[in-house]
Amino acid sequence: MANKPDCIATTTLRPTPWARLQSEFNLLVAPTDPAERLAFFKAHPDTRFVAASGHSFPAEYFQALPKLEIVSCFGVGYDGVDVAAAKAAKVPVTNTPDVLNDCVADTTMGMVLGVMRKLPQADRFVRDGSWLKGGQALTTSVHHKKMGIAGLGRIGKTIAKRAQGFDMEIAYYGRSKQADVPFQYFADVADLAAWCDVLVIITPGGAGTRNMIDARVLKALGPKGYLVNISRGSVVDEPALIEALKSGAIAGAGLDVFADEPRVPEALLALDNVALAPHVGSATNETREAMCNLVVDNLVAVKNGKKPLTPVY
Ligand code: NAP
Repeated sequence: MANKPDCIATTTLRPTPWARLQSEFNLLVAPTDPAERLAFFKAHPDTRFVAASGHSFPAEYFQALPKLEIVSCFGVGYDGVDVAAAKAAKVPVTNTPDVLNDCVADTTMGMVLGVMRKLPQADRFVRDGSWLKGGQALTTSVHHKKMGIAGLGRIGKTIAKRAQGFDMEIAYYGRSKQADVPFQYFADVADLAAWCDVLVIITPGGAGTRNMIDARVLKALGPKGYLVNISRGSVVDEPALIEALKSGAIAGAGLDVFADEPRVPEALLALDNVALAPHVGSATNETREAMCNLVVDNLVAVKNGKKPLTPVY
């Protein structure tokens, strides 16, 4: 339609927000192949609006679209966006914070229960007929245990609320101690690991946290300690984690995210002391609808000359 500005989508949205996007913009769907995508951008250099995922938006995309006014990302993590290039081009980048806090916190508690109470194994135990030969081996209690949270941000605080409902003691690690937080602070994540029974990772991904959970931290977590990673696969040194799980250096791991998704190392798949999920932290109908709507709200705000609602910088 003549009066609608173009908007390129590099991500899909749920049907209702997608229809909203189509009513506001002339929607163009970018190819998924990176080279074809770049060529597509270059063929549409006047584009001012982009709906993207936070997983991949390199500097060359900003260079290909010199008139960009916003990159509206689906998801709270934007570690795949070249923020330096966005800043240099003076293009605001938005994400979808807060609307997913509850959902990701729910999933985290599911992973904590899954790995410590061996719930995936319990399901397999019933299905494969093992129960007919005897009961499943005893597992580890969650309630009244110590939870260490690496990354006590929006989601981390919501996880803490859930864990308090399980009568867990909570402490946290971040780059700095937070005022008005009632939990013990550790300035070294290895000290937090040594203190806790289950270490939950919920920092952003990207260069600042790459391999933050390494062999040193896993050793500190110890043979009775559990790791739950709900942040990004890049935060954990995956080969070191596999080694720690194999050798019994830690008790187990609940993993929603991996270094090279959707590929998961065979060595992890073969282990029985892990609970695995395919990056489903925010994956409910309700939460995904809210996230998609926020992607559209940010685009519409900028189209209407207003400030973006949830800028990342
Ligand atoms: P947030 O409010 O920005 O909180 C991030 C926390 O991480 C802050 O407490 C921050 O504390 C800490 N942090 C940041 N950089 C750090 C560093 N280099 N070293 C140590 N701590 C650091 O973010 P959020 O909304 O809670 O989301 C957190 C992350 O969860 C997202 O970025 C995303 O990667 C992940 N996530 C995963 C899923 C999933 O499906 N699995 C879904 C949603 C989000 P300081 O500033 O004090 O260091």
